[in-house]
Amino acid sequence: MSLRTRIALTFMLLLTAVLGAALGAVSVANRGNAERDVERQLEFGAQTFSGLLKSNRQLLTQAAQAVADDYGFRGAVAERDTDTLVSVLENGGSRVGAAMVVLTSLDGRVIAASGSHLITGAQFPIAALQRNGAAGDSTANVMVDNGKIYQVVAVPVKSPLPVAWITMGFELDARAAQSIATITGLGVALSVHSAQVSRGLRNTVGDLRGNDIVTRQIALESLDKTQVYATLSRSLAEARAPFERLTSTLFRIAGVSLIGFGWAAFWIARNITRPLRDLTQSVDQIREGSYDVELTVQRRDELGVLAEGLQLMQSAVKSRDQSIRRLAYEDTLTGLQNRTAFSANLTQAVNDPRGSPIGVAVINLNRFRRINEYLGYSVGDGVLTKTAERLATVPSAGTAVARLAADQFAAFTRLANSEDLLAWGASLLAALSEPVVIEAQPIDISATVGLAAAHTDTVSADDLLRCAELALEHARRDKRPLAIYEEALNPAARDQLSLLGELRHAIEHNEFRLFFQPKIEMTTNNIAGAEVLLRWQHPTRGLLSPAAFVPFAEQTGFIRRLTRWTLDHAIAQAAEWHCAGKPLPLAVNISADDVSDPRLDTRVAGLLTRHQLPPSLLTLELTESGFIDDPKRALSMLDALAVLGVNISIDDFGTGYSSLSLLARMPAHEVKIDRSFVQGLETDAEYAAIVRSAIEMGHSLGLKVVAEGIETEVAAQRLRALGCDIAQGYLYAKPMPLEQLQTWLEGRVRVPVIALPIDFNVEDVTDTISLATY
Ligand code: C2E
Ligand code: CA
Ligand code: CA
Repeated sequence: MSLRTRIALTFMLLLTAVLGAALGAVSVANRGNAERDVERQLEFGAQTFSGLLKSNRQLLTQAAQAVADDYGFRGAVAERDTDTLVSVLENGGSRVGAAMVVLTSLDGRVIAASGSHLITGAQFPIAALQRNGAAGDSTANVMVDNGKIYQVVAVPVKSPLPVAWITMGFELDARAAQSIATITGLGVALSVHSAQVSRGLRNTVGDLRGNDIVTRQIALESLDKTQVYATLSRSLAEARAPFERLTSTLFRIAGVSLIGFGWAAFWIARNITRPLRDLTQSVDQIREGSYDVELTVQRRDELGVLAEGLQLMQSAVKSRDQSIRRLAYEDTLTGLQNRTAFSANLTQAVNDPRGSPIGVAVINLNRFRRINEYLGYSVGDGVLTKTAERLATVPSAGTAVARLAADQFAAFTRLANSEDLLAWGASLLAALSEPVVIEAQPIDISATVGLAAAHTDTVSADDLLRCAELALEHARRDKRPLAIYEEALNPAARDQLSLLGELRHAIEHNEFRLFFQPKIEMTTNNIAGAEVLLRWQHPTRGLLSPAAFVPFAEQTGFIRRLTRWTLDHAIAQAAEWHCAGKPLPLAVNISADDVSDPRLDTRVAGLLTRHQLPPSLLTLELTESGFIDDPKRALSMLDALAVLGVNISIDDFGTGYSSLSLLARMPAHEVKIDRSFVQGLETDAEYAAIVRSAIEMGHSLGLKVVAEGIETEVAAQRLRALGCDIAQGYLYAKPMPLEQLQTWLEGRVRVPVIALPIDFNVEDVTDTISLATY
């Protein structure tokens, strides 16, 4: 039941109860009033009736006395002159209108009579009359004669002693009853009963003719055996009628007011509940997440306060919601979308089956790292912000611009046709061609753009974005400002895309294995350590060698994750051996991209600390080509690693183009002569010369020289003769998994590891490094 109905019904019920009680009381009172009224009327009627009888008596007594006093009459009585007597009696009677006049002897014999059927000599109940007359004035004597009722009075005829009695009477007929009825407003009936029913007065209520009738019987003193009653009656229904009219008027008023009140109650209840309902609706909407609900309730009362509170709450929730969204989907520096939001939007666009083709661009700011380094982070931030603003102005890119990573942006657009892709990419490039001015300082910026386009519904948003990223990689490698990903030109790309996903999966599911290839000290044949070589235990393709995935991982930047994983597991393994008192130095390969990661040294330091491995038990192998991109940066990172106490090895020595001066400045501990030279050693004199000079050069720089890829005893002997320090190759052992290595190692002598400073503490080293690099 709604609040409105409940309020209205409560009011209605209350009012109904009050009205019901009042009306009930009124009608009970009215009923009592009517009964008391009837009572009073009957009382009055009885008094009137006895008053009438009394005055009748007086009238009759006077008239009879007048006849008795008449001189002539007395004479006639003495003479028993019947005729005279009759005429005098008639005269005397008719003077007051008496219906019966009887003259009787003292013993009650009729002498003469008028208006009666009594004949002379008949017995008249004079004795009873005398008795009653002596009792006083108040009683009325009645007698029944010939079916008629008379009120009679007896007076003695004295001369001077009583000689006879005159009895005079009025008939109590219908007329008499009618006159009392007229005066009192009551029903009056006279009745004769043969036996005495009761004496005195009584009220009875009986239902006559369907009405409630209240009656009062007055018993009259009868001279004979019969009993005469005067019955006064009053209809209770009639007496009630005026009260009932009043009551029913009241009921009508109550009914009308109840209807009126009910209507008013509903109206008021609706007025109270309508704003509440409005508020409830608004709350519902807010709960469903729409925070722009305009609360229409504007009042001064508590509801108004409530509405105001809700409005405030709503805007608070809204702004909090917005800031949460902003944090989740927005890049806080530039205000652009972040990767999450961008790929959600792109997914939506791609999934629209009616849409035209979609072009995606990944934009990389060139040399951004330098800007950060040389001009400071605040300028770097300024450049990023300006770049974001510029990109947002490129038409059609519109709102779909995002910042994916530090200096990498992305945008997508709908293309009228695929040919527009290049023009759009060019416009993105053009937007970034002018220098940006930051802190009054113009800074040249340029960008590389990778583009990809696809018809909607044919490709997933993630794939499309990755295609653009591959195109960007292409452009950077070819040192071109722009490249378009073209599926037709690169059928392997799709495989590569899926490969990236597989690599992620592999890391998460530990599909990579560490293989170890021992390094042998050439003079003593002792174990100098082992190189860690990665293998991928692919769920369907079997054991994969690094050639199947390392170059790809390097291209896509995934190598950093892979190196982190390898370092973590290799360091853990080395620490285990160290802890067991059988230390074996391990060498881990790192790629050029790892060296350009400014956090590499802290990562390595963190791992060493975590696993409690002395840094001298770890060697990092880096190929010469890792320095070509940015030699200065690479050098400073290598310095930082060397300060840690980690050994640095220059891998594939001889294949790169690094200058002697660069090599001299490198904080390296060893060089590894590339296996192509080692393998050419036996047959090719030129290669032999290269190997010889490489060994000499290494030694002259104070580095140990390692030869890798030794497959034959001949090659080993030559290298030993040339003074090579350490050998590695199938001749000694192939790369092998852990268990195999352990068997292989049993009974072999390991090269004693250079003693550590007594108070060596990995944390101290870590501290120094952090200070040195940041
Ligand atoms: P690399 O660093 O030059 O590793 C030596 C490679 O030569 C290994 O190939 C090894 O199996 C192979 N090798 C060793 N002795 C002989 C021999 O006597 N004859 C021949 N023919 N080959 C020999 P692998 O394991 O296939 O590794 C290939 C390359 O993959 C490595 O070249 C290295 O550059 C890279 N790599 C391997 N593991 C990792 C890793 O964890 N991280 C990085 N960044 N690169 C890795
Ligand atoms: Ca290596
Ligand atoms: Ca090598």
